Amino acid sequence: MAKQVGARAKLRKYFLENLGRVMESSELREAAGDISEWARRVRELRTEEGYLILTHNDRSDLKPGQYLLETAKPQPAFERAISKETRAFVLDRNGFTCQMCGAVAGEPHPYDQTRKTRLHLGHIIDKSAGGTDDAANLRAICSVCNEGASNATLTRPDLMKLMVQIRRATSTDQLSALGWLINKFPKQAKEFVSTKS
Ligand SMILES: [Zn+2]
Repeated sequence: MAKQVGARAKLRKYFLENLGRVMESSELREAAGDISEWARRVRELRTEEGYLILTHNDRSDLKPGQYLLETAKPQPAFERAISKETRAFVLDRNGFTCQMCGAVAGEPHPYDQTRKTRLHLGHIIDKSAGGTDDAANLRAICSVCNEGASNATLTRPDLMKLMVQIRRATSTDQLSALGWLINKFPKQAKEFVSTKS
């Protein structure tokens, strides 16, 4: 038993030393001290310690047998303590969509197409502000937003990037955007059309 705990510690250290690098199972097996239980120890790092060790189930660019730890920050203990039922209830209520950026579970993340969107639970009112772990105070947050990368994703697009996106969109989407803009700026839209004609 002591030997197995040792293997998990070895793997934890190895993952943290190789943050952001894709690793093969043979390498991890060796790092664990060449024990047959190495894969179970990796699972424990994920389920018991909350390390977000990614596999091909999480990222489309990973092959079966490849592992990747992107962030040294484990998932908070509160989320691991929340029941499966509460988790399922909250995710279903939020339509399996990140409530910060709109990414949908299982689909490529809109801000990082190489990543499959994985949803976590976050607090609506922060614990430090008196928020609870009740379903009513929980919401779905994707791993990108959860890691704080949302600072980047919530940045307003600059005009040039926005125009590039609009020019590349389908006519249907361009017309939807036009309709939305006319709705938002009816007066300006009228003026704009009259000066053009
Ligand atoms: Zn998000």
